[in-house]
Amino acid sequence: MPERIYLDYAATTPVDPAVAKAMEPYLSDSFGNASSVHSFGQQAMKAVDEARVMIARFLNCQPTEIIFTSGATEANNMAIKGVVFAWLIDPRQWTIARRGGNNNHRPSSIVHRPHLVTTAIEHPSVLESCQALEQMGLAEVTYVKPQANGIVRVEDVIGAIKENTILVSVMSVNNEVGTIQPIREIGRALSSFLVAGSLVTGKNQRSSHQTTRKPIFHTDATQAIQFFNCRVDKLRVDLLSMSAHKIYGPKGVGAVYVRKGTPIRRFLDGGAQEFDLRAGTLNTPGVVGFGVAIERLEKLIKLEKLGDALTSLRDRFITGVLKSIPNTSLNGDPIHRLPNNVNIRFNGIDAQTLVMALDQAGIAASAGSACASGAATASPVITTMLGGKAAQESVRFSLGKWTTESEISYAIQVLLRIVKQVRSEKYK
Ligand code: PMP
Repeated sequence: MPERIYLDYAATTPVDPAVAKAMEPYLSDSFGNASSVHSFGQQAMKAVDEARVMIARFLNCQPTEIIFTSGATEANNMAIKGVVFAWLIDPRQWTIARRGGNNNHRPSSIVHRPHLVTTAIEHPSVLESCQALEQMGLAEVTYVKPQANGIVRVEDVIGAIKENTILVSVMSVNNEVGTIQPIREIGRALSSFLVAGSLVTGKNQRSSHQTTRKPIFHTDATQAIQFFNCRVDKLRVDLLSMSAHKIYGPKGVGAVYVRKGTPIRRFLDGGAQEFDLRAGTLNTPGVVGFGVAIERLEKLIKLEKLGDALTSLRDRFITGVLKSIPNTSLNGDPIHRLPNNVNIRFNGIDAQTLVMALDQAGIAASAGSACASGAATASPVITTMLGGKAAQESVRFSLGKWTTESEISYAIQVLLRIVKQVRSEKYK
């Protein structure tokens, strides 16, 4: 057995050697600033443009609809705050010709403040962006709860929409329990949706305009792009966030897809990079690595290779643990879950203690999400789904393209030994 076994691919993935190789020239000779007009700059911009094309092909959109960011945290902040900022600057942008839907819909209330719909199990970069807007009095937010299996209902999301709803944000796949959310169904339901209301555009001035635009639809697809076809036309999303380091690319680079015509205002001010939507010098090596990582992924998804291989390893792991270790259960839907996600509750055992004991035995797993760990609070996602006690006793194992069968068998044996030991010490 190798000295260390990595079962935390949902936190981050190792960089694929082919990705690292493609990035290397942009860390040395081709160091130009992509915004510079001279040949050094142009060389960098050419590489950025090629990566943009690769990502656009993956999402089936225009390259000009891809905005590079420092990762999915920034992409999510930009999507949520950017749409609210655009509304605050010019609410009339939401007044467009009625298309489809119910033409008898009449405005019935005055809209003072925009409303957002999201779910209670989003990544903190979505949840806290929403909470910050609420605190500043810039928006009101509804947080839709999932069912106990970690999946939100389409009707609960659609039912939360009000006359002043400008944005619906639902993650494609949950990062902790791996549950796959009904994005296509929500996209379909939203596209025939019409919201109406009259706007207050200035001090007590009621506009004659009516809000007749469907809410903008955003999805955080960070954990989904590794396994699923995320064509934006199929999902019917207007905004989509992604990150390179979850797909064997480098850390510190991501992107947001912005459908042409979506009202959005940049939230980082400065230079006019990224079509004036994201100020700051482009991370050329990172962007190049992201492009190559996406291209390699696209091939695997087409062949359904990675997902199929991991699904069988995942199910072996789940069955192995549930059968050999008493008082354990799987968190999240057993079928509608990521091919690489195993999230298990070990009754009576503190998850942080278990993660530390596993680490001493050379196995990397996590309790809660990496972003929240360190602050030893139990997972808010599992708390929402199953309660606080379940959250304190749950550990996530996430598999990746270099996980082997023997690593899984070994991890089951180690878990069995540690759990037995912790339980026997507890009841001595
Ligand atoms: N959204 C989800 C679903 C994630 O899993 C993560 C990473 N844990 C992020 C957003 C944040 O991504 P990044 O690390 O690129 O900021």
